[in-house]
Formats: sequence, C-alpha cells, structure tokens
Amino acid sequence: MIGIMCAMREELEPILEKVKIEKEIDYARNRYYIAKYKDLDLVLAYSKIGKVNAATTATILIEKFGAKKILFSGVAGAIDSDLKIGDLIIATKTCQHDVDLTVFGYEPGFIPESKVFFECDEKLNNIAKNVAKKLGIKLKEGIIASGDQFIHSKERKEWIAKTFKASAIEMEGGAVGCVTWTLGVPFFMLRSISDSAEEGAGVDFDEFLEESSKISAEFLIEMLNEIVNEKMS
Ligand code: SAH
Repeated sequence: MIGIMCAMREELEPILEKVKIEKEIDYARNRYYIAKYKDLDLVLAYSKIGKVNAATTATILIEKFGAKKILFSGVAGAIDSDLKIGDLIIATKTCQHDVDLTVFGYEPGFIPESKVFFECDEKLNNIAKNVAKKLGIKLKEGIIASGDQFIHSKERKEWIAKTFKASAIEMEGGAVGCVTWTLGVPFFMLRSISDSAEEGAGVDFDEFLEESSKISAEFLIEMLNEIVNEKMS
C-alpha cells in the first residue's frame, strides 16, 4: 500500500482524477480514498494545512491504512533564486523552522530526543530523478523547511535560508518527515513552486495554486508509472 498525501483539496484533486477510486472512508474528520493505479494499491488523502494536520494524516495513513511509504505532492514558496513559479523540487530532507528551544542552548529546529533534519528516501528520490531525466523536466533537490506560518517576508525567508540552508518553504513536510522517521517508513516530498515567499506571495499563491498543484500531481503520476515499471522488471 502506497500512501499519497497533500495538504489542500486543490493539490489532491488532479491526482484523484488519474486513479481508480474503489472506496471512500470518512475517518477522524477527514476523507481517505482507497484506490488503484495500474496494479498499485493506494490510499490517498489531503490533510488540511499545517504541521499538526499533516502529522495526523501521515500517522493514520501508516497506522490505520497500512501505507508502506508516503509520497507527498503539493506547492511551496521558493527560497533559492533559481526556483521559479511552476518549477519542481524534491526534498533531500525536511525540518521545522518554527521550532525554537534556543534559550536552552539548542540549535534552531531541534527538539531533545528528536532531530533537526528528517531525511527523505534516497530510492524514491532516485526514481524521481530518473523520471525527470527521461521526460526532460527540470527537477531541483534541496532542503525543504516547514512551519505553521505562510511566509511572505524577505526577512523571514532569508533567516530560514541561512539557518537551515533550505531551498523551499511550506507548512507540512517537517511534520511528515518526523512521523515517517519515528515510524520507520520511507518518505518522498515533491513540491511545485507557487510563490516567492516574499511580499506579495499571498497574491501569487492564490493565482498559481491550481496550476502548480497540477504540475506536482502530474509528476507524481509519472513517478507511479516508474514504480510500476520497476516492479515489473
Ligand atoms: N490560501 C489558502 C491558504 C494557503 S496556506 C486558504 O485560504 O485556504 C499555503 C499552503 O501552501 C500550505 O499548505 C503550504 O504548505 C504551502 N505554501 C505555499 N507557499 C508557501 C509559503 N510562502 N509559506 C508557507 N507555506 C507555503
């Protein structure tokens, strides 16, 4: 069973259009879709925005629905200047930029008995890179930082860039990274850029959410095609 999650309805809908939905299950104030894509068994959901919602959904996908890997698709704000609206990025690792226990001498993002960075699965990242190469799609790899804030300020963005060496910002990846690390499940994070995370980002986000969501969803489907091919070979 492969778990596929997004944060928002707009991000999940273009994926749902491409799979065969077999069952819809309402659970924990959310809807989970049991589906097939070719011969792959899938469970899909959008979590709602933010780290707590994302952690809850990731846990349910794994613990209740038996997901053996988690693939995330969605949109993000750009940090690196070579990332333009619509560009794709996969995370090497994710972190929580809003965790602050620095007064106790810990580095930003660190929680005792946990860690700052949660690594994404190398095998899944390699599949993504193969897909990008085959299709001639530009795909960046980098750290993705998450927090329960929509970032729309150059100053805050620069702080996150400097502190975590992050390439993009969103609101869920660090939470899913923590859950999948805790439960020992491979995690893949894909995002298409929706805004610059600077002043005016809110306006861009509203304009490009749908288009960027589709770009991410289409790439995710190509990943599934590659996973099917690899299983068959
Ligand atoms: N306009 C939406 C709220 C969007 S919140 C509404 O009214 O419902 C932004 C979502 O996109 C989050 O899920 C987050 O993961 C991602 N995101 C895109 N750009 C972002 C940015 N600049 N800062 C933080 N998250 C961003």
